[in-house]
Amino acid sequence: MPDMTPGGARPTILVVEDEVPLLTLLRYNLEKQGFRVEEASDGQEALLRVAEARPDLVLLDWMLPQLSGLEVCRQLRRRPATRDLPIIMVTARTEQQDSVRALDTGADDYISKPFAMDGLLARIRALLRRSGSLATRGTLAFHDLVMDQDAHRVSRNGRALHLGPTEYRLLEFLMQHPGRVFSREQLLDAVWGRDIHVEPRTVDVHIRRLRKAINGEGEEDVIRTVRSAGYALDLEEG
Ligand code: CA
Repeated sequence: MPDMTPGGARPTILVVEDEVPLLTLLRYNLEKQGFRVEEASDGQEALLRVAEARPDLVLLDWMLPQLSGLEVCRQLRRRPATRDLPIIMVTARTEQQDSVRALDTGADDYISKPFAMDGLLARIRALLRRSGSLATRGTLAFHDLVMDQDAHRVSRNGRALHLGPTEYRLLEFLMQHPGRVFSREQLLDAVWGRDIHVEPRTVDVHIRRLRKAINGEGEEDVIRTVRSAGYALDLEEG
């Protein structure tokens, strides 16, 4: 889970990638984890976007039009403003010496295509923690929802939300496991406790209240109902 800075600011990740399907996939997964995403599809654009968007981390493809990822990395390291900007180099090349080259150029980390999304997210979080862009605990975030567990406060898009205690616990549990579908019984166990006898339909009532509390006018419903399966904190893909 993304644990944002105490202020609840969402770290911005610049994804530099010229393969559109991969760019789309990365954007979807990073946004789902609560990150803000900026894009660039070639090396020149990457340098411009870094200056404009001031990202907290750059996910940098090696093979790019205009300017290679290696050259972009070199230039970023030469500039005082971006000397310490966290950079993860992404490449289709797997030779050991390529990883050495990437790291020599100044990349903080290196990942080869094809990569597992979970592994990439773990590297991103580790690097953001090291650079201080991510708090280590106490805050959960999903899309534009932020939960400060220490202060017991929830906000969406900066707007404070008012939840009942059951809705709070329900949301907290879902935010700890984004994208996973839970049956009514699993939610009862996790949120109400195994020993308390509650009708599974009670879950539906609290999900309804939770939706009402968190989904403002025109805002996307972040709770997905999975017919005959249960509920998930999720966004519709695409
Ligand atoms: Ca490429």
